[in-house]
Amino acid sequence: MRILLMGAPGSGKGTQAGFIAEKANVSSVSSGDLFRKNLSDNTELGVLAKTYMDRGEYVPDDVTIRMVLDWVNDPSNISGFVLDGFPRTLPQAIALDKELGSVDKVIFFDVPTADLIERLSGRLICKTCQASFHKIFYPSKNGMICDQCPDDLYQRDDDKPDVVTNRLKVYMQETQPVIEYYDQQNKLINIDGSKSVDEVQSKLEIQLND
Ligand SMILES: [Zn+2]
Repeated sequence: MRILLMGAPGSGKGTQAGFIAEKANVSSVSSGDLFRKNLSDNTELGVLAKTYMDRGEYVPDDVTIRMVLDWVNDPSNISGFVLDGFPRTLPQAIALDKELGSVDKVIFFDVPTADLIERLSGRLICKTCQASFHKIFYPSKNGMICDQCPDDLYQRDDDKPDVVTNRLKVYMQETQPVIEYYDQQNKLINIDGSKSVDEVQSKLEIQLND
């Protein structure tokens, strides 16, 4: 079974990737994992990607596509896999289909934008020990003070609501055509990602057994 996971940052797809892979009895990888692995192993593609990053440029689509195709073509993954966070653009989706014929299921973790902003902009970090908290889901017992050491908590610039909102906007613009592409193929499965981890898992289980 070849499964793709789609969903905005904060949609919880990363949390469920392991569960889905276990149920489908395949391995899972995220595009970020593949990227970091290619960089740390100094593969040809990793070295190439680094030349762009060193210049402060985006790594071109075709480099990312080749990293993923290398992984899906590995003998241990060719018959089935869970791919988390890829494809993110329409050219990536088309390249994947061209290589594989098609995929079996595309699971889209659907979460309202307001919920995503709440999840993503709630993170607070301790200035001293770097402990990570969440305003709503995992608050410090001492408010804006760390409960593991006596220092203040702060919000990283990346986690500020306007930055988060912009990141989500970019994600949605990029991925909307991908969602439509798989919807037209009747591959798209919408999962309500605003529910609890357990509720999402039981919905996933039904879809995976289908
Ligand atoms: Zn601390």
